[in-house]
Amino acid sequence: MNAVTPQRTGVPHCDVLVVGGGIMGSSVAYFLTALAPSCEVVVVEPDSTYEFASTPRASGGARRQFSCPENIAMSNYSLPFIEQFPQTMAVNDEPAHVDWHGGGYLFIVPDKGWAMLRENHAVQVAQGVRADLLDRDGLVARFPSMNVQDLAGGVHTPDDGWCDPNGLLRGFRRKALAQGVAYVSDRVVAIERRIDHAFDVRYRSGASIHAGHVVNAAGAWAKEVSAMIGMPLPVEPLRRFEHYFETPNAIEPLPYVKDLDRLAFRPEGRGYSGGLVNSEEPRGFNFEVDHAYFENAVWPALAHRFPAFEACRCKRTWSGLYEQCELDGNPIIGAWTGIAPNFFVVGGFSGHGMMHAPAAGRAIAELIVHGRYVTLDLSRLDYRRVANNAPYPERGIV
Ligand SMILES: Cc1cc2nc3c(=O)[nH]c(=O)nc-3n(C[C@H](O)[C@H](O)[C@H](O)COP(=O)(O)OP(=O)(O)OC[C@H]3O[C@@H](n4cnc5c(N)ncnc54)[C@H](O)[C@@H]3O)c2cc1C
Repeated sequence: MNAVTPQRTGVPHCDVLVVGGGIMGSSVAYFLTALAPSCEVVVVEPDSTYEFASTPRASGGARRQFSCPENIAMSNYSLPFIEQFPQTMAVNDEPAHVDWHGGGYLFIVPDKGWAMLRENHAVQVAQGVRADLLDRDGLVARFPSMNVQDLAGGVHTPDDGWCDPNGLLRGFRRKALAQGVAYVSDRVVAIERRIDHAFDVRYRSGASIHAGHVVNAAGAWAKEVSAMIGMPLPVEPLRRFEHYFETPNAIEPLPYVKDLDRLAFRPEGRGYSGGLVNSEEPRGFNFEVDHAYFENAVWPALAHRFPAFEACRCKRTWSGLYEQCELDGNPIIGAWTGIAPNFFVVGGFSGHGMMHAPAAGRAIAELIVHGRYVTLDLSRLDYRRVANNAPYPERGIV
């Protein structure tokens, strides 16, 4: 709490209090203090090991393949930022470690998804994305090990890739600390809006703080945090498994491969890392691992697409939580317009939060520092679509 200036009342005060110090909260804190070095920012995070946080459990994929222009724009900002991350986030000349692999992304579809894929491809190209539309023959030419019999084609974005999510989180946190952000090891348990519109925020330890602005960056726990001031947030924890697997059979170098059934995997070391999202998974804080899931669901899908995976072995499985936006699968970014304009949400990324953390953190920082978006206009992703029950979903790319 060193960076917090106590008010005359004796209760500490900060300009911005960020709830949750995962990648989203740490990105917000970094950009706030980069844009406004005198801004007093406190991040409250109960677990500096991030044992159950989503970020270190993520697969690390970063792509420009979306259909909503705002998501493509966030990727166009975030991916180059991640590539430059080691230098931008250096502290005392010590670079950050993010392990970027520009291995590309490949989205493949059967006949029923072809028209939609072509439309999405046009949107991506219009936003400057290097994206190659490949028919079945084009797929075979680039990826000869792939079974394409049931496919119409795909889009290959060679400039996309993957990185180490934990490195990204640690880099943001370390730089934020170097810029004067205070990380408090505690848990927010109550938030009250005062008559002067500032917030009284109470911690589990019993301590409290006054904050001019509050940012809810609590990931899969965001609904609980918003509920503290009566804001309904349609964000639920959705368990998803990630597997590391190897095969003795040779396959050409692959990009991050993704299909309409939500199979998604990429090369990792001597093997591959990936999974198959079960959209029907019951919502809840469940970290149990079902070791049969790989055998029953993932392996058949892998072996169907690449026969070389018939001989693959799963070496490790872990579980993590998507912070699933139940309205439309897209993030909620912005203020609680009309009710509490100094209470912000940056959540509900539904599986895309690592890759979009740089753009989303900057967006929230701009709203607080400048009162408006400067770099990217993300207003279509704000809370008004929740209040108006007006979903704005991705088309086909989840
Ligand atoms: C298996 C898996 C694979 C994924 N793959 C990808 C991928 O390839 N690409 C991609 O972009 N994204 C991916 N994601 C999604 C990505 O991990 C998340 O979108 C992102 O990490 C969310 O970051 P966050 O900071 O919001 O959440 P978190 O990292 O969960 O951080 C939230 C923090 O809030 C804290 N907190 C909670 N409640 C409170 C409270 N009351 N007070 C204070 N602090 C609190 C928690 O302790 C936690 O540390 C994947 C996720 C999973 C589970």
